[in-house]
Amino acid sequence: MRIPKEQVVLKMSPRNKEVASTDSGSVVTFETCDCFSNQIQQEDQPFSSVGWDLINPATGPLYVNGAEPGDVLKVKILDIKIEDKGVMTTAPKMGVLGDIIPEEKTKVISIKDGKALFNDKIQIPVKPMIGVIGTAPKTEEIPTGTPGAHGGNMDCKRIVKGATLYLPVNVPGALLSMGDLHAVMGDGEIVICGLEIPGEITVEVSVLKDQSLPLPMLVEGENVMAIASAETLDEAAKMATVNMHSFLVENLKMSVEEAGMLLSLVGDLRICQVVDPLMTARMEFPLSILDQYEYKLG
Ligand code: CA
Ligand code: CA
Repeated sequence: MRIPKEQVVLKMSPRNKEVASTDSGSVVTFETCDCFSNQIQQEDQPFSSVGWDLINPATGPLYVNGAEPGDVLKVKILDIKIEDKGVMTTAPKMGVLGDIIPEEKTKVISIKDGKALFNDKIQIPVKPMIGVIGTAPKTEEIPTGTPGAHGGNMDCKRIVKGATLYLPVNVPGALLSMGDLHAVMGDGEIVICGLEIPGEITVEVSVLKDQSLPLPMLVEGENVMAIASAETLDEAAKMATVNMHSFLVENLKMSVEEAGMLLSLVGDLRICQVVDPLMTARMEFPLSILDQYEYKLG
């Protein structure tokens, strides 16, 4: 099944009407526009030329049959394909360097042989990642540019091909949507964009019943991660840490002291982004320790 890039939402909402439905265990491809709705094609087009009502479209939502509030939606990222050209913008008052950057600037960056051609000297290997991916909140409508407990604009650079993301099911069908691919991005997302690029994402969606996980949770490479978003980076960092800690205490049956000490030794607290309406952090923890305790995520 394929959801075309014209089927987008700008809010994750329990009131969004699904554009497709599927059974648990199915594979679905989401075609995605870039975060500017593909409106910026040339370097003479500044960020301000794109209306705010076109920023951060997410393709969907997808209704997953059998998903009920309280379940967990498991989203396995099977593949991410990107086009061969991406764009970046900077603007005054935006992002970490907004006080320093005097004027709007757009950069179009070609991708060749898996590398982003940044300038004459620098070629950056691409690592395609998903900026926006989430389910509908229970009652409120959250703009697709905002992250939260439902996922959304987490801008976590580890949501890549091969990763598995666990999201909450707040409404029947979960209503999954996604977009905002980046060909590459560093932790922090300093000027409010990665290398923004259209593409397509292929996922396998499954409904998990009776799971108690701190959500959103991500497995990628050698790590399991708790991702959290809050008004300040301090709060987001604390929430990601507390979520991972409670996961260890609950599922590995560790004491609170032992789990705390373990996190202090092998947990890595990292920044996802500091430029969206809420800040996002993640606590990374080695999967190998879950294996030693014979704990398997669903
Ligand atoms: Ca984003
Ligand atoms: Ca973006």
